[in-house]
Amino acid sequence: MATETLAGAGAAGGDTNNKVSSENCAEEKLRWTLSDFDIGKPLGRGKFGHVYLAREKKSNHIVALKVLFKSQLKQSQVEHQLRREVEIQSHLRNPNILRLYGYFYDQTRVYLILEYAAKGELYKELQKCKYFSEKRAATYVASLARALIYCHGKHVIHRDIKPENLLIGAQGELKIADFGWSVHTFNRRRTMCGTLDYLPPEMVESVEHDASVDIWSLGVLCYEFLYGMPPFEAKEHSDTYRRIVKVDLKFPPKPIVSASAKDLISQMLVKDSSLRLPLHKLLEHPWIVQNADPSGIYRG
Ligand code: ATP
Ligand code: MG
Repeated sequence: MATETLAGAGAAGGDTNNKVSSENCAEEKLRWTLSDFDIGKPLGRGKFGHVYLAREKKSNHIVALKVLFKSQLKQSQVEHQLRREVEIQSHLRNPNILRLYGYFYDQTRVYLILEYAAKGELYKELQKCKYFSEKRAATYVASLARALIYCHGKHVIHRDIKPENLLIGAQGELKIADFGWSVHTFNRRRTMCGTLDYLPPEMVESVEHDASVDIWSLGVLCYEFLYGMPPFEAKEHSDTYRRIVKVDLKFPPKPIVSASAKDLISQMLVKDSSLRLPLHKLLEHPWIVQNADPSGIYRG
């Protein structure tokens, strides 16, 4: 069956060893090559390569093929990060998380077989609208909360939730992409990663952090959905840094945002990570209950 062949590749994709294990030899059909795909139009360009629309020939399944150059990966020393990204993302199955069906490589390139997000980047949508309605923002935030609850249940912390890492599926549902900074963890971590604007105080200050970093970032995202800019934005990095550490949270008078939305954001952007509103409680917050479409799909 078409989709099942690709789904099966996802499981095999978890093994990112460069050598071919005996297990893989036994399941030769799970190894992909470029000749299995018809390549279509370019979908975009990333730091390390290009993304193309593609069709798996046998199944006619439409995918996004991300092509990364080994030389660039080596030069930037991100092979380890990519391996972790593939390992984590290929094992996640959630309607709001972009599927990674599998990967393959040749002499010069690494190819990731990704679910195709037909409506493109959320970032562009936000730029176009400037800011989202409360119904749209709440629908997106609730769907992301459910996806993050799923991740955290598997001990995966995303750590880089922001508009640039969210794609929109054919139905208008959000898809978390880009697990480049994610970790699979049972311990508390202390690494500097992600983009400054979305980092919580404990990561800016490099003290220990855990899954509650994603609650903070979701709070920042909710703010940006409603106001069209992140809450701690400043001209200088050092000022953003200071504002995050102080939790210098201000709500501008325009656009007009309900008190209930501000209440939710205030409960997520809390310095003490143990006091942030847990994600399952977020789903019960009146602003979410009253505004979010339970389907997770925003219908314009
Ligand atoms: P980075 O290398 O920092 O992750 P990036 O996120 O901009 O950079 P990619 O993730 O490689 O780069 O993707 C480049 C562009 O291709 C995206 O911005 C998006 O427009 C498009 N794209 C990527 N993946 C998909 C997908 N699964 N479905 C549809 N479009 C995609
Ligand atoms: Mg990206």
